[in-house]
This record gives sequence, C-alpha cells and structure tokens, in this order.
Amino acid sequence: MRSRKAHPMSPSKPESFAEVAAGEELLRSILATVPDAMIIIDTSGVITYFSAAAEQMFGYGSEEVLGQNIRLLMPEPDREHHDDYMRRYLETGQARIIGIGRFTVARRRNGEVFPIQLSIGEAGTGDGRVFSGFVRDLTEREEARVHLEELQNEIAHVSRVSAMGTMASSLAHELNQPLTAIANYVEGARDLLDNPTPDILETVREVLDDAARESVRAGQIVRGLRDFIGRGTAERRAESLPRLINQANALALIGAREMGIDVDLALDPQAETVFVAGVQVQQVLVNLIRNAAEAMESSDRRRLSIRTQRLSKEFVQVSVTDSGQGFAPESLDRLFEPFFSTKGEGMGLGLSICRTIVESLGGSIWAEQAAGGMTFNFTLLSADTEDSDDGPASDLSG
Ligand code: ADP
Repeated sequence: MRSRKAHPMSPSKPESFAEVAAGEELLRSILATVPDAMIIIDTSGVITYFSAAAEQMFGYGSEEVLGQNIRLLMPEPDREHHDDYMRRYLETGQARIIGIGRFTVARRRNGEVFPIQLSIGEAGTGDGRVFSGFVRDLTEREEARVHLEELQNEIAHVSRVSAMGTMASSLAHELNQPLTAIANYVEGARDLLDNPTPDILETVREVLDDAARESVRAGQIVRGLRDFIGRGTAERRAESLPRLINQANALALIGAREMGIDVDLALDPQAETVFVAGVQVQQVLVNLIRNAAEAMESSDRRRLSIRTQRLSKEFVQVSVTDSGQGFAPESLDRLFEPFFSTKGEGMGLGLSICRTIVESLGGSIWAEQAAGGMTFNFTLLSADTEDSDDGPASDLSG
C-alpha cells in the first residue's frame, strides 16, 4: 500500500519559530552558494532580495539596490518598458517570461551590458506575491563562442593558403599565356621595324598596344593571387601540443556529438611543446579527425584515439586512430594525392593539404592500417627544451 506520509518539503503541519528560522538559515546558505544570481522583487518591481552572487555579478552591494526598481539592472529598451510588462502581466495573467525563461541581456553597475539566461518564478498571492529571478551570466560562454568563430575563420584562411600549393601549377599555366603572348608581340614588332614605312609603324603601334594589354592581364592574375593569399604565411612559435589537440578536437567534432564517438587521448608529457604555426596544425588535426569520424559513420564501435609521443630530441609524433572502415593497404600512398577521394561529394584535398602543411613545418605524414581502422601519423618539430641542453641526443628516456 502507498504511504500517505506527506512529502518532507511540503508544509503539512505548522512549524515552530525555531524550525522556520532553521529552514530560512538553510535556504540562505543554499542561496549563498548557487552560482546563479538570485533576485526577488515585489509586484511593483521593487527589489526585496539580492543574493551574494547577484552582488558579484552586477557590482552593486545589496544595501544599494534593496528598495530600488529592478529596472536599474536592465539596459534600454527593457529599462523603459519593464513597468508596463509587469502591469500587463498582473492585469491579464498572460506570461511572456514567467515560468518560461529566456536569453536576454542585463546591465552591470559600470554600464557593461552582458548576455544572461533568466528564469523567473512566481510565489505567493495578493500583496505577498513576489517574483524570483535566477540570472546566469553567459559572458564566458559568449566569449567561447566568439573565440571558436575566430578560430574557424583562421582555419578557413589557412586552408585557402594551403590550397595554394595545389593551385600553384594551374596559376603558373595561366600566367604563361599572357607572358608568351607578350614575347610574341614584342618580337613581331621588332621584326616589323626592319622596314619602317608609315604603314608598318602603324601596325607596330597596334602590336605594342596588344602587348601592353597582355601585361595588364598578367598583372591582374598576380594581384588575384595576392588577394587569395591575404594575410601571408602563419607565424611559427612554441605552442602547447595538448592545447592544439583539445581545440582541434572540439572544432572537428562539432555536430558529431550525437554520433557517440569515444575519444581517447594519450599525451606524452615529453611531447608538450612544438614549434609550429598553431592554426596550421589545428587544420591538419581537424582534417584527420573529421575524416576519422566520417570513416566511422557505419561502424558499431566508434573509437577515436589521439596519441602523442616524443620520437627523438628533434621530433614528436602525433597519431590519430579510428575504428572505421579502413583502407586498402596497397593504395595507402594515393590517399595524399590531390583530388583523390572515395566520397560522393569529397574534394580529395584534405589529406594533400595536410601533407603540404606538415612538410612545410619540417615533418612528415603517413597512413597505416590499424586494428579495425586507420592510423594517420605525422611528425612535428619539438620545442621542449629540457633535453636539448648539452646532453647526448640519445639520452631521452630520462
Ligand atoms: P576527402 O575527405 O574530401 O575525400 P581527403 O584527402 O581528406 O579528401 O581524403 C581522401 C580519401 O582518403 C577519402 O576519400 C577516403 O577514401 C580516404 N580516407 C581518409 N581518411 C580516412 C580514414 N580515417 N579511414 C579510411 N579512409 C580514409
């Protein structure tokens, strides 16, 4: 039989003053520790409670805001309209935010407007009616989003720059045409000048006009090339390899979360710092991780493992292993050829770009079959200094 005992939190019996006080104490201590700010207002919008987290978040002491209208914490246009919002709700009972919550903005004491998630509850009746708001500061989340976007832009940029390697030959071909034409026109003009009648001189003028037009065209191609390269080559410096791996992982697996990929990192403390252009290495990792995720699309078990290893005084190795469909061992080298793809809408550029990048950074990249999948390995220059003092090169194991 079901117990009819009241829920421990329900006010089933009148409580003594001490019990109420103890309850309030407990509530206060809970409220003091929740990271969200809590603010209570009455029906006219006047603040009656302002938690410690709220003080921190908004920069006001509670004694400054108690008795003030909640508008104080809002930027325009909410600041101007909040009284109307409340009046409308009290008259019609139609909730636009109460019990629903929403993403909006708030205003700190120093005037800074920041993104928040706001949940509002309502309690009591009549004159004792109050509204409680829980405010979560989303500034950091917003910053993380912006940072991610910047990173993605940079990566897109690097991929353009790297695709340059593949484009170089076709551009050279394109430049060759106007240059050959110019050479032909100029030689023709020179020959024509052997017999400079007025008619011939007129023809020479026309031929030289053509040559000038072709050189303008060549100039346009070169300019197009420069625009394409944009900001020039990425700078190299000592970068934390684990940080690059974590960021690349987060980027590459955006949208792949629901695939349920098990990610396993084994990072060698001796392979902590590498001398690279950080975005380029991320570009390589993102490519490899995305390929791995795609290769595991139809696998039952989806395990991605990323390993780093100090190979020698000079080099570290990064290995990305998947449990995907694998690839025929006899054609492993073809994987890195430009435009080689087995995917319907694949460009076949990813791995060729990876190779261009890794080799430009002084490393090498290769693929091998792994137990039930593939491993892609690449090497990078180590920037860890602890072993590079005067000690012998073989003395690495510690
Ligand atoms: P794309 O992904 O556009 O096809 P890539 O150069 O990145 O271009 O990859 C080339 C080909 O290499 C892919 O089409 C695929 O056949 C193969 N490949 C790449 N990564 C893997 C992997 N992890 N497992 C199996 N095959 C792979």
